[in-house]
Amino acid sequence: MDKVILHTLSKYFPAYVTFGGVKPLIAAGLFDIDTNEFRFYTPDNAKEIPDIIVNASLLVTFNGSGNALPILKKYFGLRGRTSKIPYKGKHIQIKEEISKLINGREIKFEEAIKENLSEERLVPQSKLWRLKPEECYEACLSDITQIKKLYVLFVKNKLRCPVAKKKRKYKSIALLEKQAKLTIELVPETSWFSSVRSKVSKKDWDIIRRDVYKKADYKCEICGGVGERYPVACHEIWKYYDDSNIQRLYGFISLCPSCHEVKHMGFANVRDRGDIATEHLAKVNNWPANDASRYVKAAFKKWCERSTFEWEIDLSLLDEIGIEYKKS
Ligand SMILES: [Zn+2]
Repeated sequence: MDKVILHTLSKYFPAYVTFGGVKPLIAAGLFDIDTNEFRFYTPDNAKEIPDIIVNASLLVTFNGSGNALPILKKYFGLRGRTSKIPYKGKHIQIKEEISKLINGREIKFEEAIKENLSEERLVPQSKLWRLKPEECYEACLSDITQIKKLYVLFVKNKLRCPVAKKKRKYKSIALLEKQAKLTIELVPETSWFSSVRSKVSKKDWDIIRRDVYKKADYKCEICGGVGERYPVACHEIWKYYDDSNIQRLYGFISLCPSCHEVKHMGFANVRDRGDIATEHLAKVNNWPANDASRYVKAAFKKWCERSTFEWEIDLSLLDEIGIEYKKS
């Protein structure tokens, strides 16, 4: 045996507890990574163990030397300087390697196991004390098999860590929104009947929107596109002051039907076009589909929050451009 996995079972203590001179140990298993050979040892037949471990070129342990060393010293005759087993080769503690993979941040080992090995599980330490000798053998073999799988995942560097994945892959919603060309602007339910369009005469609305279209050269100001049935629509831009619950008219923008649909994602959903609109959102912003759907979800969450308030509508912009409007 050259590269080995060592696992030790304690009958009375959880494996992470250091022995305090109490008689605990039951078994140790050694697994040869290269040959798949498993050998099971008890203090009666374990004379070979110390040599194998000391001379191993690579030793993989699950619980680490904190647990293995006292067992080896006390019951398997390991002597001498044992703080770094093996003496010459390398010792990997799977638990520590998982921590390294997630940039030193803490993660519960159980979570990593569940995430990576959902079908098979390590023998719960709490059950160990009830095991018969032959069951110890099975438990030891089972644990070692799991450790080997984790080791292989580690070597391939494909270990999936739920915590790390979130941290590494996802941009925050705030950053997504900041970098977006096209955003969602859901009008709170409590303000649905406060649109500019509903507050001004048809004649004035036509003046406003035609002016917007003309300035934008009858194209979408976000993606540059035009619609088939009608080229562009006039979209009202509102700013929401969440601290004071003031909803202020900020301006108007010329949008193609696709971008306009994204702005009002709620209506897109009602028309069963939510997926199409989300696809357009992703395309315009050059986002992966995942980011687009996360952003949509966050936008609806914010909409729900804002819809719990009555908003004070500020149309002072219309005063500035000389358009009359209904005050209530
Ligand atoms: Zn557009």
